[in-house]
Formats: sequence, structure tokens, C-alpha cells
Amino acid sequence: MPCIATQCICCASSTLERQSAVLMPFVALRALGWEPCEITADWGLRDLPLGHAHALCSSLHCPACGSLFLDMRFDSAEMARLYRNYRGADYEAQRERFEPGYIARNRALLAGDAHIPQVESFLRPWLPDHPAVLDWGGDTGLNTPLRHEAGLHHVLDISGRPLVAGAIAVDAPQLRYDLIVLAHVLEHVPEPDALIGEVAQAMDEGTRLYVEVPFERLMQEIEDRTATWQRKRHWHEHINFFSPAGLRSLLQRCGLSIDAEARLALDDRGGMAMAMLCRRG
Ligand SMILES: [Zn+2]
Repeated sequence: MPCIATQCICCASSTLERQSAVLMPFVALRALGWEPCEITADWGLRDLPLGHAHALCSSLHCPACGSLFLDMRFDSAEMARLYRNYRGADYEAQRERFEPGYIARNRALLAGDAHIPQVESFLRPWLPDHPAVLDWGGDTGLNTPLRHEAGLHHVLDISGRPLVAGAIAVDAPQLRYDLIVLAHVLEHVPEPDALIGEVAQAMDEGTRLYVEVPFERLMQEIEDRTATWQRKRHWHEHINFFSPAGLRSLLQRCGLSIDAEARLALDDRGGMAMAMLCRRG
């Protein structure tokens, strides 16, 4: 069973606001084995109304740093089930059942991210010409920034999928890197501080860490004061919605300093990401 968060995943404050929400059926089934169900008259329950029963969870909001996250923190077995063969054939088929149209959207994702040139322009001033790069959670390595000019391109990923030409799969950091990339990973993980701590172990004074997470539409609207956190009534594979202050707080709490920040446009439909470049100390 997942454990329930009692403190902020970013700043560790234990003052949290909560509201009921639902865990989307695809995640509930894949991670926890919970099939959607309908309570019908033949259940014979006197005091419950009839209708669909969904997996109940809570949205937790940290007033101190603005982070918003799912209360359920999946354990390692649940995470392994959720991300087994991520975006592969059985994953696609299972998800299409609950989310018609998913397969077509997934194929577009597999084509590669159009915003990588923006990331490369952001990174270049901070790095040598041919950096040694480790992409942590980099999937096939297709979207590793600077991969065409890197002196070395390592990818650490649990998916085990074939890598793009020039990339080398590693199951742990192998050497001192100029750049470690942690892009679109932290929004999925139950303990982001533990993961960043592990990444920081592989860094020395000269290593830069590039962190990129979605700046979710709701978080943009909260910043613009056109929405409030209470609108978050469902949770899917992004279990952490970072605010700018929350992400800074998380990185600093893990012993990192932030040298540069950027907001990146992911598409022409308002999709945004937050990027931060860090070093130890
Ligand atoms: Zn917080």
C-alpha cells in the first residue's frame, strides 16, 4: 500500500492543506491493481448511494512554498508496476482502455521534443564545448540536450529500451560528468528529495545539474491568480505539481545552489516547463 505524505515534498513543512480527489483509473489499476467498479443495487448496501466508486485520494497543498501533490506515495513495487514497459505496447493498450486517444498522443511524444534547442541555448554558456553528459531517466536518450556535441552520452534509465546512436546505457554513474540531466522525472517520483540526493552523490564541484519539470497549466493559472489549488481534483502519473518556489526550496534543501532559471515553451498550446541549473554547495 502507498504511504500517505505528512510533510511537503519540497520544503518539508508539515503544515498542509488537503482536499479530496480521485486517483485516475489507469494509475489505480496499474500501480495498485484496483479495478474500477460500480456499486449496484445487488450489492445490497442500505446506506450507500449507487454509482461508480473511484479510488479516493487527497490533493495536498503547501501554503509555505505553493507545491501541490498527491498524498499517496507509491512504494518501489508499485512504481515498478506503474512504469513497467513505460509507453510500450501493453502500457499503451491498458491506457487506451481508460483514455481513448492515448495511443495517438503517445506516438507524437515519441517523435521527440521540439523545445530541446531552447534547452541547449540555456545550457551552452555554462559548459565546455564537448561535455560529458549523463541523462538520468533519459529513456532512449532521444531528448538529451547537447547530445550531438557531447564528448560522452550516458543514459541511466529503467525502461531498458534501445538507445539512440551514440548513447551508452549505464545502471549507475560511471565517472565525473560535466552535465547531469534530470528532465521530466521529478514529477513522477514519490520521494524527489531522495532522488536528488542520489544524483548529488555523483556530482563534484564542476558538475552542473540540469533539472526540468512541467510548469503545469494549473500552476501557471495559480501564479496568474486565475485559479486556486482547490481545482486539482484528479491525479495521474504526474504526482507532484511544482511551484517555482517549491522547486527552488527542494533543490536548496538537497544542498544545491541554483545558477540559472528559465521558463520554456513546450508547444504552441500553452504547455510550459521550468528549468533550473544547479551545482553543489
Ligand atoms: Zn512546501
